[in-house]
Amino acid sequence: MKIGVLALQGAFREHRNMVEACGHEVIEVRKPVELDQIQGLIIPGGESTTITKLMREFQLEQAIVSRAEVGMPIYGTCAGLIVLAKDIIGSSQPSLNLMDISVQRNAFGRQIDSFECELAIPVLGYKPFAAVFIRAPLIERVAPNVGILAQYDSKIVFARQGNFLASSFHPELTNDKRIHQYFIQMVEEAINK
Ligand code: GLN
Repeated sequence: MKIGVLALQGAFREHRNMVEACGHEVIEVRKPVELDQIQGLIIPGGESTTITKLMREFQLEQAIVSRAEVGMPIYGTCAGLIVLAKDIIGSSQPSLNLMDISVQRNAFGRQIDSFECELAIPVLGYKPFAAVFIRAPLIERVAPNVGILAQYDSKIVFARQGNFLASSFHPELTNDKRIHQYFIQMVEEAINK
């Protein structure tokens, strides 16, 4: 099984290291043909407007959407979450328009630009997850078919809708592999469907 990491901008190397630590091969995706080799895709954190702009320039936008529509799992972290969302509040920036969520960019304000907290994530088991937030977006609203996997201060920060997974925080910056393992399991399930 090969997992793609969109490698146009942002924290893609850290995702690569995590997926490899989970025992799977990584393809860095910069061209549409590379999508043919992968069974799941991670869109990293970085700057969402830059990632979307480069995705267009590299002709990846429609190619990713086409794979998503036939069930390829995609996991977006932070800026990647924004790229997946159907609605970016107060902004007309383009996105892949895949997940039925409304997101607010840079939602935590200046004072708490970046922070770490212990997050309860029931699907991962009892042990809390050390979540790192960096100028993070949060999910303001979700459609009824979106599962809420974690909340911080009653705000949604981790969600799943079928083959799409999105987190406001950065699990690739910790040593905890559980979220990457959870995503890899989604990919395994999608292959065996
Ligand atoms: N604030 C960034 C954006 O809106 C996301 C930050 C991140 O990915 N760490 O794209």
